[in-house]
Amino acid sequence: MSVTHDPYEEAKKQLRQTIDLLGLGDEVYEMLAVPERLIQVRLTIKMDDGSIKTFIGWRSQHNSALGPYKGGVRYHPETNVNEVIALSMWMTWKNALAGLPYGGGKGGIRVDPKKLSPSELERLSRAYFAAISDVVGVDQDIPAPDVYTNPQTMSWYFDEYSRIKRGQYFGVVTGKPVELGGLETRVISTGYGTAIAAREVAKKLFGGVEGRTVAVQGFGNAGYYAAKFLSEMGAIVVAVSDSKGGIFNSKGLKIDDVKKVKNETGSVINYTDIEKKITNEELLELDVDILVPAAIENVITEENADRIKAKAIVEAANGPTTPEAEAILTKKGIVVVPDILANAGGVIMSHIEWVNNRMGGWIREEEAKARLEEKMVNNFHAVWDYWQKKLDTSKYNMRAAAYAIAVDRVYRAMKLRGWI
Ligand code: GLU
Repeated sequence: MSVTHDPYEEAKKQLRQTIDLLGLGDEVYEMLAVPERLIQVRLTIKMDDGSIKTFIGWRSQHNSALGPYKGGVRYHPETNVNEVIALSMWMTWKNALAGLPYGGGKGGIRVDPKKLSPSELERLSRAYFAAISDVVGVDQDIPAPDVYTNPQTMSWYFDEYSRIKRGQYFGVVTGKPVELGGLETRVISTGYGTAIAAREVAKKLFGGVEGRTVAVQGFGNAGYYAAKFLSEMGAIVVAVSDSKGGIFNSKGLKIDDVKKVKNETGSVINYTDIEKKITNEELLELDVDILVPAAIENVITEENADRIKAKAIVEAANGPTTPEAEAILTKKGIVVVPDILANAGGVIMSHIEWVNNRMGGWIREEEAKARLEEKMVNNFHAVWDYWQKKLDTSKYNMRAAAYAIAVDRVYRAMKLRGWI
């Protein structure tokens, strides 16, 4: 994360632009620029060696006009309150755009989870969920995994909440393991959804994704599955990276073999069937058809936007492109499929899981996957058509269209509820 870019400032800038585009007043901007509720919690836990350590966590509940707050919790050493607020605002737009009955929320703990043992992580996770237990709930706020949290984290959250509230509240978190009411498909869903978004934009720009070159920055859950499904769809994934660096092979990387090496050695850079190693910065500037930033925010900035050669950018990460960079990309004619559209697969599957929990387990995996695909395709085309038909495409990118649809939905819900 770059020090000079504050994601909350960027999120507010994007909101301002959308409010102006839709011709809504300042009072709407002011309502949406701040979260409805923001909680900071102090988490003090006993470490394995007997010492005591204190961590800070947050939950930002941005907007509930369309339904209960929904969004993940990230564990990251650089997470801060402004990042969490920005991410919660992006969840409001993402959920609205996807047509889900959810508002937006996000949580975070400032911690390097790689430095904690599993039992320390369990104590930290339970402490966090206990601390926010009065403001989350099946119909209040439904957390899920995000950066460095996973189905195990969700199991601890679910158990802690159920213990405190004396019940079995499966619907209080999504992204749970299958044994505890989760869906097999949830793990692949963000990356799978991103691959579908990339396939759809490739159809528009090149007539199809087959034979097109792709670079993926980040090899976590989203990046790995995006790369895997894109190569299964016939794209040539020439580069991938993780926090330690990247690898390049013009003939295409075998994604499952790369994953094996990452699992065994801790990084993709130890994979040997490559032409060269590259840095994360070099990966972004490769001459490929499709670039998929799948790591963290603010990696495409006004400093490197001019050197980006990809024809389309499909944002698997949240907030990888700054507004200044986006203006440069738009001028260059680079199509950006925005995060709130391209990475919505995770929360779309979360919704299916939540509905399934409330029905006591009903949905079949194949049905869940088909629903995800259908929703991603429909959402992509709704945004594309709005962009092409209602906006000047030389001035506005797809993000403007996605934001316009999302903010308008939230605005209408607020109006109907009598908030404005
Ligand atoms: N953390 C994911 C996101 O940023 C998923 C959120 C959810 O499933 O609630 O969209």
